[in-house]
Amino acid sequence: MRRFDILALTNKGKKRALKIGRLLKEIKKRELIQLTQDLIRIPSVRRQGQSEQKVALYLSRLLEGMGLDVVVEAVEPGAPNIIAVLHGESEGPCLMFECHTDVVTEGDPSEWKYGPFEGRLVGNRIYGRGACDTKGNLAAAVMAVQAINQSGIPFKGKILLGILVDEEGMMTGVKHFIRHGWANGIHAAIICEPVDNHLCITQKGALRAELITSGKMSHGAMPLAGLNPIPPMISILEKMRQLEEEEIERLGKDVFLGYPSITPTVLQAPVKGEPQLNVIPNQCRALLDIRTIPGQSHEALKKQLEDIVKEEERSVNASLDSGPLKEIRETLEKGLSRGMSFQSTLNVFEDRPWTRTPREEPIVQSVSKAIRSITGEEPTYGGVLGATDGTFLSAWAGIPIVTIGAGKWMIPHQKDEWVSVEDLDLTAKIYAVSALEFLGGAGSRI
Ligand SMILES: [Zn+2]
Repeated sequence: MRRFDILALTNKGKKRALKIGRLLKEIKKRELIQLTQDLIRIPSVRRQGQSEQKVALYLSRLLEGMGLDVVVEAVEPGAPNIIAVLHGESEGPCLMFECHTDVVTEGDPSEWKYGPFEGRLVGNRIYGRGACDTKGNLAAAVMAVQAINQSGIPFKGKILLGILVDEEGMMTGVKHFIRHGWANGIHAAIICEPVDNHLCITQKGALRAELITSGKMSHGAMPLAGLNPIPPMISILEKMRQLEEEEIERLGKDVFLGYPSITPTVLQAPVKGEPQLNVIPNQCRALLDIRTIPGQSHEALKKQLEDIVKEEERSVNASLDSGPLKEIRETLEKGLSRGMSFQSTLNVFEDRPWTRTPREEPIVQSVSKAIRSITGEEPTYGGVLGATDGTFLSAWAGIPIVTIGAGKWMIPHQKDEWVSVEDLDLTAKIYAVSALEFLGGAGSRI
């Protein structure tokens, strides 16, 4: 390399460092703490009625005050998405920060050290429901956008803050966002969730299913007069456990996500009415929480599960119509069981694919570069074990996503939820510099 090339490079490096320094000065820790507390103090647990309304409208006013273009779009009554855009100097890509306004239930408030909606700052920690999942990270994203705006550093394209509802439930906010065309033209998204500021490039997928076995109610002393739906349910669940084992064997351990799983989480019989020891119920119901990793096809897996269920149905019905069982039923129960049949049905009511973003994607490169600039260290790569709104941005809209945000792994959804102020401050800095890198503002071309 000739001498003037080295000089040019050094100058470019210096300019970049100056810009990043200028930007980071605009992240005000005190404002970040205040905003996190303000958001926690507006409860937004998803319940009947106006769940996210108040906090969403608070944010829309704040973002309007910052000079962003803000759209409030009702997903359902009392639950609006907020979409806010900061435009750059010239045409270019669109980077989305995705956050959610809803929080999970606080449970029994008397079990909390501090009130769940007090937003108490104690030492280096902010306590409260949503502190890390994800109001703290939402505040960090807002502060990052404000810092870019106030720094006056030019950038290409635009930054879109998508502050959506119902992430903790059926993710109706992000589905509405995509269905109404907002995802068109977004080039990458940073999902703001508590992952200990790891750079997460993959997420588990999920299938949610209801399994029902139906037989015939009868007296517990005369089981052959009815058809017990419980043993076939046990048999189906056992075959699903074997399928889980086969999948684990086939795929091995994903470096970030671990193993796939097929987990029955709810089992009830009867489905309606009181259970009673001496009554054979007519129906049995199980809910399945199925988690997938890269390498699994959801279509193939659904087919395998369906095959298990249908095979059980066939074999139970065949046993009714033939062999000694038929004879016993007909003689002992005087034909009571004639015309009886067994049904088993599987209804997959939610399908959330796994995601994996290649490390070469510009968004991964930008966030990784930002982390190196701020901390002087390489990022810690990771994966998200649950699904997020990012799942749908990736699967339905094809948007490359990364997930990053403050908050220790085991803290969300528990009592005494908290976030470290230092971690949150680092998150805001990572968000701001990542955006600048992605939108060309850190370079010297603008
Ligand atoms: Zn969350």
